[in-house]
Amino acid sequence: MTDTLGLYLHIPFCRSRCRYCGFYSNAALPPDAYVEAMLREMEGYRRSFSMEVDTVYLGGGTPSALSAAQLARLMDGVRRSFAVRDDAEITMEMNPCDMTEGYLSCARALGINRLSVGVQSKDDRLLRIIGRRHTAAEAEQAVKRAFLAGFRNISIDLMYELPGQSPADFERSLLWAMHLPVTHLSVYSLILEEGTRFAQLADEGKLPRPSESGSWAMYQAMCRIPPHYGFRRYEISSFARPGFESRHNRKYWRLDPYLGLGPSACSRIGRERWQVLPGTRRYMKELLAGRGAPMEKDRLSEAEEMEEYCFLHLRMREGIGRADFEARYGAPIERWYGRELALLKKEKLLAEKDGQIFLTYRGAALGNTVFEAFLRSDEEDGNI
Ligand code: SF4
Repeated sequence: MTDTLGLYLHIPFCRSRCRYCGFYSNAALPPDAYVEAMLREMEGYRRSFSMEVDTVYLGGGTPSALSAAQLARLMDGVRRSFAVRDDAEITMEMNPCDMTEGYLSCARALGINRLSVGVQSKDDRLLRIIGRRHTAAEAEQAVKRAFLAGFRNISIDLMYELPGQSPADFERSLLWAMHLPVTHLSVYSLILEEGTRFAQLADEGKLPRPSESGSWAMYQAMCRIPPHYGFRRYEISSFARPGFESRHNRKYWRLDPYLGLGPSACSRIGRERWQVLPGTRRYMKELLAGRGAPMEKDRLSEAEEMEEYCFLHLRMREGIGRADFEARYGAPIERWYGRELALLKKEKLLAEKDGQIFLTYRGAALGNTVFEAFLRSDEEDGNI
């Protein structure tokens, strides 16, 4: 575990809702009262942590729906309440529609040094279908504008398996992305999240889905094209130019300490986990009345943490380090997973080199099957 802290600020507001999105957010602009509530939540943590903050992540929702003045207040609050390192990675998710020259230079002046832009596709028809507000040309201009404004660490998101998307469509999006001034790429397949418009259409049989061979071709394109252009796949869905891996996201995968602020945000310090309950109105009401954010707390058992340790580490290219596992849990990994490791290696889903156990190409494609093998029943741990 590192001795630094990651800080996450959840901004649960979007100007409109995308049809696939299952994140917690409200279709509205952030009111000043929300910013005030979050400042109070931060103040409540002042002096609670001796750790320095080396990553800050503004996610959502759409953080760029904040006005420049609101963003400045939040960043000022972060620095007043936490010891933010000078070299901290400070990421902000942005919607291309919000990335004006003025807004970008304000973000830079506030110390934001990494952007994550929801670009999703090069295909305007698909962008309309999934409910994005921008065209591909607008997204491209926004990324280039960010580069001209001085941002040298820009990540974009792309999606595949979209309704009506062919492998050739997706390849075009990937190739287009390779020529943008970006250092990082997150690529996600469409997941039908419960409660979304797409999930509803799928239930009604009205959502075109790709064939198995189409999905496989898109997956292969994702694995093949970015590395060809110098992006290394360092996590199941993430590609980066050397040195531009997301330091903040790595904290999640490595079980390092992070603190989440805002409704639905999660925190983890050691085995303690807590989540601010979703519900923006209640969050604002409680904090503005001088009380704490409503939360649910949880302490992981060793078995639960070990499961998470295994499948989160396996998401990363480096996988599970034998020495690190043993130092953390006091015995070789075989003590708990001997049978599973042998089987997964035999099936060529896992491989091992220099003390690191990691997913093979085939294993990464069947990630969930591998992860399930690391679930431990309560009975096995004698908890029943
Ligand atoms: S995908 Fe992003 S912009 Fe769209 S609704 Fe979800 S959080 Fe908002």
